[in-house]
Order: sequence, then structure tokens, then C-alpha cells
Amino acid sequence: MHQGKRAVVIGGSMGGLLAARALADHYEEVTVLERDHFPAVGEHRKGVPQGRHAHGLLAQGRAVLEEFFPGLTRDLVAQGAKEGDIVEGARWYQNGGFHAQFPSGLMGLLLSRPLLEGYVRGRVLALPGVRALTGVSVRGLLGGGGHVTGVRLDDEGLSDLRADLVVDASGRGSQAPKWLEALGYERPAEELVRIDLAYATRVYRRRPQDLGGNDAFVIGSNAPEARGGVVLGMEGDRWVVTLAGFLGDHPPTDEAGFLEFARSLPVPDVYELVKDAEPLSGIVPYKFPGSQRRRYERLARFPEGFLVTGDALCSFNPVFGQGMTVAAAEAKALARCLEAGTKNLARRFFREAAALVDSPWSIAVGADLRYPQVRGPRGPVVSFVNWYVARLHVAARRDRALVLAFQKVANLMAPPPSLLAPKLALRVLWGNLKPHGAAARPPGPRQAPTA
Ligand SMILES: Cc1cc2nc3c(=O)[nH]c(=O)nc-3n(C[C@H](O)[C@H](O)[C@H](O)COP(=O)(O)OP(=O)(O)OC[C@H]3O[C@@H](n4cnc5c(N)ncnc54)[C@H](O)[C@@H]3O)c2cc1C
Repeated sequence: MHQGKRAVVIGGSMGGLLAARALADHYEEVTVLERDHFPAVGEHRKGVPQGRHAHGLLAQGRAVLEEFFPGLTRDLVAQGAKEGDIVEGARWYQNGGFHAQFPSGLMGLLLSRPLLEGYVRGRVLALPGVRALTGVSVRGLLGGGGHVTGVRLDDEGLSDLRADLVVDASGRGSQAPKWLEALGYERPAEELVRIDLAYATRVYRRRPQDLGGNDAFVIGSNAPEARGGVVLGMEGDRWVVTLAGFLGDHPPTDEAGFLEFARSLPVPDVYELVKDAEPLSGIVPYKFPGSQRRRYERLARFPEGFLVTGDALCSFNPVFGQGMTVAAAEAKALARCLEAGTKNLARRFFREAAALVDSPWSIAVGADLRYPQVRGPRGPVVSFVNWYVARLHVAARRDRALVLAFQKVANLMAPPPSLLAPKLALRVLWGNLKPHGAAARPPGPRQAPTA
């Protein structure tokens, strides 16, 4: 049953496309407004600069996408994406050692961000009633009497667009707080946990002998070490190699500096790969000031007919690879909310979205707070959890049950408190009493610079 005639989505990236997918079942017309012109599938575009960097799709994200677009995995594998077990096929270095590898049943999909987004875009725009207007910038909201009634466009030749529902998916730089203020509402409270992170990324040709046949290699967030890296397989027999540095210890973008940074990582595998693999791109930088969350659910007054989703709502430290999965979960929440009608839609949606964001936010921010230089709410619970998780990683070098439990949380398939279950806590304890595999290199030589 249709809830209205027209819904408008601001932004045609993953958050906007997934929201459009949910809206298509409930509105006669769904119009996606995107500032960029869409390129061919698999090509980068200006509005998604992060698409040039390692972009992992978590197991939960893949499952939701498959639900929204049946056959997605099959189609993308046919285009060169690789479906694989994220525990068996990925070498994961954390807190001085490697996690055990074994078939876990947690399936991920390795592919480039432009291929994933281009595919999803094709499926969404093929839905009845869905269209995209590209090269169009939204400049504000139309509204009055407690309702948003459309969007203001200032591009020549395009008049304002009326809509029964407007969904803002314009990303981290969303102007929604300002637009709401212009309509007489308060701005949402904003939380920012500064980590001064930077990525430097290069694409290489993949050779069969690389990384011992694994499809991915991850040096996780390893505070107090400031440096990390990730290598992910992509379509076209390519690797995307992203080096990451926290708290101002940024990876250089010149050839020699990039190699030297790779060499300084706590384990040699990434350096061994990049030192003689064939580069297929230049080295591209990305700066990420910190995780940012806007608390729309806490506003006392909010107009009907307007929602915010994706990175515009919450943008996470990207090393945890959560953004697209959370955007997909929010789109599912939107679909659920619309099934119950549009009465109090904003209040219901923001409440559900806040609950969805809580876990990934606590994972990302909780881990960032292990750096003493990061400012944020650091209560005894956060300190205990970080102490405990560090020990869990040590025990996970041998204990499959702990690897599985950790990966379920990291893949947003289980809530973080599940790691504290008594039977897992005993395994953590036991795993730290027994002598464990030696660290590849004692952690600590590259600590984050003090502020
Ligand atoms: C460096 C980096 C690495 C990441 N790695 C991962 C990863 O490994 N896994 C993962 O799941 N997530 C990752 N993410 C997060 C992921 O990219 C986002 O969560 C995802 O793209 C969803 O964001 P979005 O669609 O809400 O916003 P965005 O992707 O930022 O898209 C916003 C869109 O809105 C358009 N737009 C903006 N303003 C306007 C306007 N006024 N009018 C019209 N259009 C407008 C833009 O052109 C753009 O297309 C990463 C992010 C970064 C920064």
C-alpha cells in the first residue's frame, strides 16, 4: 500500500540508494537527487572519494543487500567479485598476533566500492517508479506547519521539488542541521570523537603467491600502535592496499614514503606484497578527522516528512568497515517503519536508527578510546572492555570460538556484550594462562604521537 505519492532522496550513494530501495515499496514515485553525474559501473566519482580506498562489506551488510536485491552475490561474482569465508580467507593481525583461521560460515564479498555501488544503483533505478536526477544540488528544505514539503534546488532550469517525504542521505557533510534551523527547529546535538586518521591507498596487480593465498590481510586497530593497514582482493585480479595512521602519524603519498610506512608496520606481510607488486594506480590520500554522530532522536521537536540516514546520521572510524552495513540496516528499519504507516514516522525511525547505531558506535569509539590522546567519555566500563578485548585477541590466536564470537560482533551480527558471556570469559582467561604464540614483533615500537 502506498504511503504517499512522491518521496525524494538527497544523495545517490550507498545510503541514498538503499533508502530509495526501501521507499520504492511505499511511494508511487521515488526521486534520487545527486550532485554528481553517475559514471559507468565500476568507475569512481567525485562525490564518493572514499570509494578509492579499501571498502570491505561486512557479512551482515552482504546479507541485507542480498535480501534487498536477490541474486546480488551471484551477479557480482560473475563480474569478478570474490565470495569467501571472512575467517578462513583473511589473515587478521591484532594485539601482537594472528587470529586462528578456519571455515566459519561467515561469508563476505570482496570487490571494489565502485562496482558495488554501480551494481546497486542499476538495480534501484530499474525499480518501477524510481528515477534519478543527476547534476542536481539540494540547497534547503521547503516546509511549514510542522511538515517538510519538499526540497529547494537552485540549479538553473530546475524548480523546487515537492514531496510527501524527504530523506537526507547526503553524507557526513549533510547540511540538514542548517536546513532545519532555517525552518525554525533546533540543530541536533553532535558528537565528534577526534582521531586525526589518514589513509593512503594504491591498487596493485594480484599474483597467485601473494599473502600465502589469502584473499585479505588486516592489521586491525592496535592501540597504542598508530599504524595499520589492510589489503583486500578486488575484481580484475587486483589488490587494494590501504595504509592507515592515527593521531597525525599519516602515511605518505610518495612512493618511497609509502613503502617505508608499509615496512614499519608490526608485521612484514603488507610490505612484502607492495615492494615488488605491479602498481595499477597512483597513491591516493584521505583524511578522516573523527567519528561523528548527530542525535536527531533526542530533539524535542522535529518536522514530519523528513528523515536523515547513512553517514549524515553517523559516520564511523572507517577502519571497522561499518558504514555501508549500517546504511543497509537503516534502510531495513525505514521499510519496517513505513509498513506501520507514516504517523510519527520521524520519531519512530530515529529511535530505531539510534538503536542500530549504538553497537557499531561503541565498537569504533570504544576502540579509539584506547589511545590516551583521544578525548571522549572514558568510564570504567570502556576501560574494562578494552582491557578484556585485548586479552580476547591473545586467546583468539588459538581459540576458534573466540575468533568466531569476535567476528560476529565485528560483522554486526551480534551485539558487543555477547563477548562478555561467562563461557567466553572463561576461554579468555584460560587462553591467557597458557603460553600463547609469540608476537610477530612486540607491539609498541610505533606508538601514536602524544598530543
Ligand atoms: C576512507 C573511508 C573508508 C571507508 N571504508 C568503508 C568500508 O570498508 N566498509 C564500509 O561499509 N564503509 C566504509 N566507509 C563508509 C562508507 O563509505 C559510507 O558509510 C557509505 O558510503 C554510505 O554513506 P552515504 O551514502 O550515507 O554518504 P556518502 O557515501 O558520503 O554519499 C553522499 C552522496 O550525497 C551526494 N550529495 C552530497 N550533498 C548533496 C546535495 N546537497 N545534493 C545532492 N547530492 C548531494 C554526494 O555526491 C554523494 O553521492 C568508508 C568511509 C571512508 C571515509
